[in-house]
Amino acid sequence: MANAEASSSAEPPPAHFGPFKFCPLCASSLETREICERPRLACSKTDCDFVHWENPKPVAVAVVATKEGVVLTRRKYAPEIGTFCLPGGFIEKGESAQEACIREVLEETGLQVEVVSHLGVYPSSDANELIVVFHVKPVGGHLSAGEEVLEVGCFHKHDLPPDIGFDQHRAILEAWFAIEVLHLQPIFTSGS
Ligand SMILES: [Zn+2]
Repeated sequence: MANAEASSSAEPPPAHFGPFKFCPLCASSLETREICERPRLACSKTDCDFVHWENPKPVAVAVVATKEGVVLTRRKYAPEIGTFCLPGGFIEKGESAQEACIREVLEETGLQVEVVSHLGVYPSSDANELIVVFHVKPVGGHLSAGEEVLEVGCFHKHDLPPDIGFDQHRAILEAWFAIEVLHLQPIFTSGS
């Protein structure tokens, strides 16, 4: 494993909130009602149509493939503080998933990357997120831990850290290493 530790100790960003209590349109209280076949928080005022739909938040995540292994970051903030995960983060308004992926990798790992391919979409029902995964390759920069992570390092399949923070990230890594093995060891070889 090659790694680099962060030195900054910035305050955690406010990424997680409790249930909403008031309508963001008219400030009346919210109530739970059956709407479109599900219980949902909606405005209690009769002439306000606000419904809190709670659609999953999209997250862009990267498999940064290098000769030294796949890049993982050690988490500085909740949830799963201190565990390792793939670099990534929430897609900003106006950003494509690819742009968000490239930006998050640079912010967290110091690496400039290009998207090689889209690997898949993973649900995260407990966090109400939808994880969009890309295979990216480094094209510049140098590996260094950004302000939002504790540490960054490269890991091969045989030396992955035991404390991968999220089941989805572990599943993504397993899927990636299965593809990587297929690339290295084709089923059909010339002469067979
Ligand atoms: Zn309202």
